[in-house]
Amino acid sequence: MPCPTRYIGRFAPSPTGPLHAGSLVAALASWLDARAHDGQWLVRIEDIDPPRCQPGADRIILQQLADCGLHAEGDVVYQSQRGAAYQRALDQLTAAGHAYPCACTRAEIAAEHARLGWVKPRHGELVYPGTCRPAAPGLDGLKGRPARAWRVAVPKDPETQALWPWHDRRLGDQQQALDTEVGDFVVRRADGLWAYQLAVVVDDAEQGITDIVRGEDLADNTPRQQWLQRLLGVPAPSYLHTPLVLDARGEKLSKQHGAPALDTSTPALVLQALRDAGGALGLPPLEASTPAEWLAQAIKAWPWQP
Ligand code: GLU
Repeated sequence: MPCPTRYIGRFAPSPTGPLHAGSLVAALASWLDARAHDGQWLVRIEDIDPPRCQPGADRIILQQLADCGLHAEGDVVYQSQRGAAYQRALDQLTAAGHAYPCACTRAEIAAEHARLGWVKPRHGELVYPGTCRPAAPGLDGLKGRPARAWRVAVPKDPETQALWPWHDRRLGDQQQALDTEVGDFVVRRADGLWAYQLAVVVDDAEQGITDIVRGEDLADNTPRQQWLQRLLGVPAPSYLHTPLVLDARGEKLSKQHGAPALDTSTPALVLQALRDAGGALGLPPLEASTPAEWLAQAIKAWPWQP
């Protein structure tokens, strides 16, 4: 009998600051889902954007996780060390005619939108109008202008692109019009940094991640990542996007909006933090007097069992 693929999950924080109550929800959910599936749980530090990273935040996050009883079962991977793998993926995409260099600035893209009469939805993407996309594979689309970023083409193919259907274990069936809502997207930024979309797909594939559990704010990245998985020929993981913790103004709790760092200095504080995160995930109140007891109960109460 073929051996079913073993579950490998991950928590992938960006080290822009210590964990807060909202990021603990994503960490805990990914850990509980891995435990409930008798799987492996990895941690990856997504430090590809140095200007946004806070020095030392990676160590604080790993300590906070350990204080909560959440221990990575494998080496912690740092995206800042993975440039060669991202370059290989970009080379592969370029050689196959899926990626191309782009010379446009944001202002030029906005000007082209105005010229075409396109209206960008308030929170929508600035969909790339395709200015630098080569007319045919192998042709130069830059027309003599210097390359800035690299983009992946999302061709207007009615079969694959009209509406990209995908499934989320909590949200159910989802869809997104990749070509009109997203368009050709950046995989290497104009400042030379790797884009999240490419890095996350390359790393999830290389680490053998079978199940992605992360915050709901990332849900609309999924079709882009599935598109890249298909182009790179790597397996497609399953997805579960967790509810977001909102602040008093109804905005997502975030470091940018000043969410306080999670205090994990005593077991009592950890237990309360776990209870709060569990509540956000829809877990019932659990009988436990230590964090370890609470975690053991939470694995059994986890709503998204195999
Ligand atoms: N690094 C991302 C974040 O902290 C998470 C990426 C992911 O889970 O796909 O928001």
